[in-house]
Amino acid sequence: MRREPIILVLLGPPGGGKGTQAKKLVEEYGLIHYSTGEILREEVRRGTETGRRVRAIMEAGDLVPDELMGRIVRSRLETMNGEGCILDGYPRNLAQARFLEEARGGRPLLVVNITVPDNRLVERLSGRRFCPRCGKLYNVRFSPPREAEVCDLCGVQLERRKDDHESVIQERLRVYAEETHPVVDFYRDGGTYFEVDGDAGADEVFSRIHRLVGAFSA
Ligand code: ADP
Ligand code: ZN
Repeated sequence: MRREPIILVLLGPPGGGKGTQAKKLVEEYGLIHYSTGEILREEVRRGTETGRRVRAIMEAGDLVPDELMGRIVRSRLETMNGEGCILDGYPRNLAQARFLEEARGGRPLLVVNITVPDNRLVERLSGRRFCPRCGKLYNVRFSPPREAEVCDLCGVQLERRKDDHESVIQERLRVYAEETHPVVDFYRDGGTYFEVDGDAGADEVFSRIHRLVGAFSA
């Protein structure tokens, strides 16, 4: 790994597997994982002022205001000292990409875009379940629990994210195409942009990302 702390930006559609890959990257490289979706969901769970402000927006599958996201991301980047991080879920539009250019403070960005066709995304998202106790992720089609809708580890009933229902999924994919896709073009010409085909097993996708990070850090 370079001595200079890198910021690894994971781009990709909802359901593209950013969170899964981020977890593996954390284990491998000790990077700090900032998932803006997780940060916001935690605010909603705790019922903070931010949580109350963003709840309905998230449930509709739309983007929360840039200015609020900017504050969240800047404060996280400011507390980094020496270690690298993964940005998962940010930037999600051009304004956020431009904001990050300034907030990164000269730290190098490695942008990895995990691409997956839309029809696969709908399958992945609508089948996604999680355990409210331990957080383990399942998919009713691809990685079902032993007993339907029950966590293998905790025996509790699995839950579904509010935004993983079909109508909201369509809105999230629309927002991705409209708002986030331009971010791909923004980085594509930057030299540290790579695409990884995400329509493969999680381990295969990880080994591809692993090679990219290795080459970038050498
Ligand atoms: P996914 O990538 O699976 O759609 P995330 O967990 O990354 O889900 O985000 C969930 C929701 O949180 C988004 O639909 C959006 O409402 C909000 N959100 C997350 N990151 C951002 C961001 N950078 N800008 C605006 N809204 C965001
Ligand atoms: Zn569990």
